[in-house]
Amino acid sequence: MTPHIVVLGSTNMDLVAYVERAPRRGETVTGRAFRTFPGGKGANQAVAAARAGATVSMIGAVGTDGFGGRLRAALEHSGVDTDLLRTVEGASGTAHIVVDDEGGNAIVVVPGANAALTGLTHGDEALITCADLLLLQLETPLDGVLAAARYARDHGVRTVLTPAPAQSLPPELLDAVDLLVANEHEAAALTGATDPRTAAHKLLDQVPDVVVTLGAEGCLYATRGAEPVTVPAPRVTAVDTTGAGDTFVGALAAALGEGRPLPSALAWASSAAALSVGRPGAAASMPYRTEIDAEAE
Ligand code: ATP
Repeated sequence: MTPHIVVLGSTNMDLVAYVERAPRRGETVTGRAFRTFPGGKGANQAVAAARAGATVSMIGAVGTDGFGGRLRAALEHSGVDTDLLRTVEGASGTAHIVVDDEGGNAIVVVPGANAALTGLTHGDEALITCADLLLLQLETPLDGVLAAARYARDHGVRTVLTPAPAQSLPPELLDAVDLLVANEHEAAALTGATDPRTAAHKLLDQVPDVVVTLGAEGCLYATRGAEPVTVPAPRVTAVDTTGAGDTFVGALAAALGEGRPLPSALAWASSAAALSVGRPGAAASMPYRTEIDAEAE
């Protein structure tokens, strides 16, 4: 059965300037290249889940500027249903990224149209009711994320939250979530604990299942009443880790939506993320189902 996944989240155009070194305040530097990439955590997770074999619908918002149409087209190109992607007057979400020669970056995110996602329409509700799984992140207003999580909980739809960007959260949001997938930094921001095991343990007070991703070390899976388990990541030569987390979550959602148990879904998602790490780009590096199956064998 092909699972139906609904993603409520951000769409941003990533505007990337490549420079020798980032400018200081008041300074102008000449960059060597400029590129644009469709992105945003919500859209990236939607693309990853669609490539991993799920039917994916995106609840989000783009602007009436030139980026809006490109962001919508990029999602559709990856097979994501955009019927409930609103177009709102004004600018699309943008991420202004300066990448220096040492691979360091500085980023300004301007939410633009994403700020309109403060609640659910009747159409959104109908879509969530029919979904196998709801994917949420925190790049859109908290009110909308909370409304979606509560609606899903009330209608028996499993909800997976990525708490990014890192921040502390109202307990009512975590209470409505079934599975939290945080990286080490996000887990620490939520709990104050820098050790991933301690953080996962604390989070289990509010969420029944917790995954803390550990980069090349794989991930830590914790469920109530059992000792946390580490799921190792396949060894790969990292070319570009951008989007590894979103690839991991999108593939995980597809596997869970198919009814796989969490440990097996985590191993499959680790194979997907490893493939993306071995190639350049964020969304561009996200693997397709057949590739993930071959890697996971
Ligand atoms: P990003 O912000 O780069 O998208 P993240 O910080 O959200 O990622 P990470 O914990 O760095 O999340 O990575 C997510 C998952 O991707 C890991 O759990 C692992 O499965 C995979 N991964 C990341 N880096 C590597 C690596 N170097 N080798 C193999 N797998 C990796």
